Amino acid sequence: MKGIIFIAPPTAGKGTQAEELEKKYKFLHISTGDLLREESKKETLEALYINEKLGSGELVDDCLVLDLLEKKLESITENFILDGFPRNLNQAVFLDKILDKFNIKKLYVIYIDIDEETAKQRILGRLQCPKCKKIYNSMTQELKPIKDGICDSCGEVLIKRTDDNEKTIKERFNHYLENTMLLIDYYKNKNLLYHIDGKQDKEKVFRSIEKILGSENND
Ligand code: AMP
Repeated sequence: MKGIIFIAPPTAGKGTQAEELEKKYKFLHISTGDLLREESKKETLEALYINEKLGSGELVDDCLVLDLLEKKLESITENFILDGFPRNLNQAVFLDKILDKFNIKKLYVIYIDIDEETAKQRILGRLQCPKCKKIYNSMTQELKPIKDGICDSCGEVLIKRTDDNEKTIKERFNHYLENTMLLIDYYKNKNLLYHIDGKQDKEKVFRSIEKILGSENND
C-alpha cells in the first residue's frame, strides 16, 4: 500500500488532482474535509461542533480528525491519497505512526504552491456539483462550466460551499501559513517533499505528479 499527501493552500487544485489520480491510477481519494462534512450531517453534539468550525474556516480539533482518519485507513487495502491532511505537525507525527501501524511503506509528499491572491480569486469562483461532486471555477477559463451555473456532466445546478467566501479565505490562508509551512520543513528534512507550481494549468500539474510517481516507480 502507498499513500500520497498534498500540501497545498485552499484552491491550489488538490481536490481536482486527487480526482484525476483516482480515475487514472485507482488511488482512493480520502479528503478529511469530506469526512468531516459527512460527520457534520449526523445528529450529534460533535456534528454541531464540526459545523461551527467548517462555517468559520477554523481547523477542527486534531483528536477528532485523527480518529476519523484512523477508522478510514483501517477499512481500506488500496493505495490512497490524503487530501487536506496533515495540516499541522501534530497530525504529521500521528500520520507517521499510523503508516507504521498499517505497514504502509511509501509516502509521496506533494507540495502544490500558490500565492494568497490567486487562492482568493479562485475561491470566490469555486462551484461544485452537489450530485456528482465535480468541481468548477467561474474565475478560471479552463474550469468554467459550459453553461453558467450548470454541471456539464449531469445537468444539476451548481452550488457554492458555505465556507467559500472572502472572510473565511483569509482565515483559512492564515491557518495554512501558520501550520502547514512547518510541514514543508518536516518533510524536506525527511527527503520526501516534491514541489510543484500550482499556478500552472491543471494538466501540467497532473503531468508533474505523474512524473514524480513514475520516477519513484522506476527506482
Ligand atoms: P477542505 O475541504 O480540505 O478545504 O477542509 C474544509 C474544512 O474542514 C477546513 O477549513 C477545516 O475546518 C476542516 N478540516 C479539513 N481537514 C482538516 C484537518 N486535517 N485538520 C483539521 N481540520 C480540518
